[in-house]
Amino acid sequence: MSETLVIAKEEKQIIQRAYRELLKSIKTPMDDQDKEDIRKAYNLAVEAHARQRRKSGEPYILHPIAVARICAEEIGLGPTAIIAALLHDVVEDTEYSLEDIRQRFGERIGMIVDGLTKLDSAYNSESPQAENFRKVLSTLVKDVRVVLIKMADRLHNMRTLGAMPRHRQLAIAAETNYIYAPLAHRLGLYNMKTEFQDLCMKITDPESYQEIKQKLQETKASRNTYIERFIIPIKEELEAAGLAYRITGRPKSIHSIWNKIKSKDVSFEEIFDLFAVRIILDVPRKMEKASCWQVYSIVTDVYRPIPERLKDWVTTPKSNGYESLHTTVIGPDGRFVEVQIRSERMDEIAERGFAAHWKYKGMSDQPDVYESWLDNIREILENQESDAIEFLNDFKTNLFHEEIYVYTPKGDMRILPKGATALDFAFMIHTDLGLRCAAVKVNNRLVPMGYKLMNGDQVSIQTNKNQKPNEAWLKMVVTGKARSKIRTAIREERQQQSSIGKEILERKLQHVKADLELNADMLVKHYGYRSRLDLYSAVAAEEVNLQDLKKFRVDNNRLLPPETEAAQVQDKAKMPEAAPDPNRKTGLPRLIINGEPADQYEYTMANCCNPVMGDDVFAFLSTNGGVRIHRSTCPNAVNLMANYGYRVMRAEWAQQAGSSFRVDLQITGIDSGPGVIERLSQKISSNLGLDIRSFSIEGKEGYFEGKISLIVHNKDQVVLAIRALKSLEGISSVVRLDSA
Ligand code: MN
Repeated sequence: MSETLVIAKEEKQIIQRAYRELLKSIKTPMDDQDKEDIRKAYNLAVEAHARQRRKSGEPYILHPIAVARICAEEIGLGPTAIIAALLHDVVEDTEYSLEDIRQRFGERIGMIVDGLTKLDSAYNSESPQAENFRKVLSTLVKDVRVVLIKMADRLHNMRTLGAMPRHRQLAIAAETNYIYAPLAHRLGLYNMKTEFQDLCMKITDPESYQEIKQKLQETKASRNTYIERFIIPIKEELEAAGLAYRITGRPKSIHSIWNKIKSKDVSFEEIFDLFAVRIILDVPRKMEKASCWQVYSIVTDVYRPIPERLKDWVTTPKSNGYESLHTTVIGPDGRFVEVQIRSERMDEIAERGFAAHWKYKGMSDQPDVYESWLDNIREILENQESDAIEFLNDFKTNLFHEEIYVYTPKGDMRILPKGATALDFAFMIHTDLGLRCAAVKVNNRLVPMGYKLMNGDQVSIQTNKNQKPNEAWLKMVVTGKARSKIRTAIREERQQQSSIGKEILERKLQHVKADLELNADMLVKHYGYRSRLDLYSAVAAEEVNLQDLKKFRVDNNRLLPPETEAAQVQDKAKMPEAAPDPNRKTGLPRLIINGEPADQYEYTMANCCNPVMGDDVFAFLSTNGGVRIHRSTCPNAVNLMANYGYRVMRAEWAQQAGSSFRVDLQITGIDSGPGVIERLSQKISSNLGLDIRSFSIEGKEGYFEGKISLIVHNKDQVVLAIRALKSLEGISSVVRLDSA
């Protein structure tokens, strides 16, 4: 027997084992037809992908099987989704057509596979991610399963990203961060969102990721002992009360811990609430609320709660369906511990989001939270004119936001994103109410339209039929719906204005025997507007001096510009080129971009993150053809890579001595008199031999804050400098800044 056949046989076993495990993981009920269809889909996928391998070298078919398993096991989807997941790459990558799928598996599965194929083809294209996001959302409103399967696909790809080249990893991570993590959040898939964020961080900031991971590992034993100690007295009370429950304690995600370290400027050791304790109750549906509060009472009898950290999503669920009661208490040794209290049903919704929500649909008298959200998306999508990036930004502000609850004059509750204004509220109730909004009363007091609403506010809107939205309104709203409605209204108003202006201009030109069509573009330039529309509106608003037209000569219906202007244009052409960027002279470092020497590009170091040699970097092609080098941890990186992934290029440092970079450090410490500056500069210039470009220091009460700009040759020098400064007496922190 030849060697290849032996391998093939082994692989066959691996594939069959993966398939059997997939079948075992399906929890939803299935009839014989379902089982047969899944088998049919599996057979077709095996055959279709038979000659393909993944980047890692393993048989391709393992990927669709894994995706189907995530759908079954982690999202809780049923047979239709599992079949579609098995087939999701068949049309894209193999000989089979969509028609084949439709014939064999029916209309619905054909539709889902079609949606997935279209999303996939969007992925590698040149279109900005905002446009892709729009595509994702249009499939979302047709059948949510398309997006859920797509997320399972992305999750598996992220878990197995190791085989991809670095710059592809960065681009995929950025897109995941930009589109899929927020969507997972919005669809209530918290576990998936958390894993997306952790996997992204592992790629974009591997050092910090590994550091926190290791520290979590090191502190695991002591953390477990602490949790044990924390829950003993609670358990006793729960048992005495005769409640059926389970209790778990687990660390928060690496990404969320990192966020806390950055936003609160503390060290890992200083973060106390590294974990949350979860109490899950097995109670009948109608007992849920009362039991959760009973447990809350028990927990807060044992440990003192921090009142402002109480979150009641049991009485009013979040708009993504999340239900739970959260509190933070002061545990043994004075450490803060977050306690989450919920029923088994609530827990399933929290873990599986949308799919679980569907399962319990109709069992509650709450209005369906997803229906209204999907309606909202449909409405935004219908507004075809809105610019894709604008649309995405609007949408995203509404994805992650915390929520507030406000009331109509009749006492009906409405949920809005935190930060929403009275005007947002008006648009949420009805578009016309928003467009005609003239005055607002909150709790019976007159407030400005841009008033930021607070929990519990009662809002009433007064309208005026002559009211017209203007540009300033855009600054008074945060919700996507309000924004897009205002923009449309302004656009329509301008269109109307401009047709009036067009008529006026046409008449004026007739007087001098000139034709509008022939001269419009020249006049736009002459008066300095961007478009005909702008010029016409300005004419209607009487902002244009039409007397000017008399200065023109007319030849055969055509206006000829007055002499002086022609001369001016000539002058401009002779203007000298702008002075060269001084940055170019200071010995640019050598780089390799996309595997080739970077000399062919005009490249500079981005000043939003000031990379130095040795930093992990990527190159970004700017619109004017130049290239900018960013650190992969740059705060702008996610945005750039997600929106303009096709302009991102791989960049590496070429070995070369003599290049220099600026790096900015922030230093804080205990004030120890006038000697501080000397000691710091001594360390840097004499001991390390580095040049200081600028140094500022500010004393506050009992401590000081300083900024030092250093000139270094590479990243090692940065690390050494930070370490050396930290070791000085009286210095409490030294942090590298992204920009000065
Ligand atoms: Mn795939």
